[in-house]
Amino acid sequence: MSLIRLVGSVDTEHKKKESAACRDVLGFYQKNVSPDPPLGRKRVFVQPAPDGIPRACVDGLPGRYIINLNCLNTLRYCQLVYQLGHELGHVWCDPSPGKSSWFVESVCAAMARLALTYMGKRWRKHPTVYKGRGYAKEFLKYHDDGIRKSANEVGLEQEGDVQGWVQEELPCIIQRGEIGADDLGRKYQLLCAVLIERSFTAHARSWGAICKLGVATRNERTDFAKWKQLVAAHESPLVEQLSICFAGPAKAEQGHPRDRPGAFPAESGIGT
Ligand SMILES: [Zn+2]
Repeated sequence: MSLIRLVGSVDTEHKKKESAACRDVLGFYQKNVSPDPPLGRKRVFVQPAPDGIPRACVDGLPGRYIINLNCLNTLRYCQLVYQLGHELGHVWCDPSPGKSSWFVESVCAAMARLALTYMGKRWRKHPTVYKGRGYAKEFLKYHDDGIRKSANEVGLEQEGDVQGWVQEELPCIIQRGEIGADDLGRKYQLLCAVLIERSFTAHARSWGAICKLGVATRNERTDFAKWKQLVAAHESPLVEQLSICFAGPAKAEQGHPRDRPGAFPAESGIGT
C-alpha cells in the first residue's frame, strides 16, 4: 500500500503520473530526513486546494495527513515538487496548530528547494512514467530561477548578496513586522531559505533536526536554544549554524510578537 495518495477531481491519466512524482517527493523526506514524521506514519492524502492555497491541513488528523495543492491536474512537475516539498516540510516539522513561524516557513521553502535538486539528480538516472530523462534539468532550472527572481524582487542584484541581506536587513524587516504571510513576507522567507539550504547541504546527515523544530516553536516564534537541546548530537552543528545565521532575527522577533497578529493561518492549516 502506497503511503501517499492523490485524491479528488484529477484526470485519471494525470493522477497516475502526478502520483508517481508525489511518491518521489515523499521518498525524498523518508530517505533524507527520517522514515516517519514526528506525529507518526500515516497516509498522506494530496488533493486540489478548495481555496486555491497550498496548505498542509490538520483537518483529518490523527488518521491521515492532508495536503492541498493548487497545481494538480496540470502536469507541471516542477511546481508539484516545489509545493509538495514545502507542505511535507510542515508535516515533518510538525503540522500541529501554532507550530509555524517565519523561520519554519523558511525551512519548508529550503526543503522544497532541496527536493527540486534531489528530483533533478534522480530524474537523470531514473526517469519514470511522467517525463523522459531530459526533463531533469527543468527541476534545476526552476530551483535557480526561483531565488534569482526573489532576490531581484527585494532589490538584490545577485544571489551572493543574500548573506549580507540576512545579517543587516532581515532583523529590521522582522522588527517592522514585514515577514508575515503576505507576498512580500514570502519573498523574504525565500531569501532566508537560500541560507538555510546552504547549511543543510553542508550538513547532509543532519536533516532529521527538523523533526524537533515544531516542538521548539510556539506562538510563531522558534526558540533556537531549545531546538538545539532537543536534537541528536550529530544534528546540533546544523542547528548551531542556523542559530548563528538567524540569531539577530530571533532576538528581534522575541521583542515584537504582538506586532504581527495572525501572520500565519495556524488553526485550520499550516502555511502555504
Ligand atoms: Zn508553509
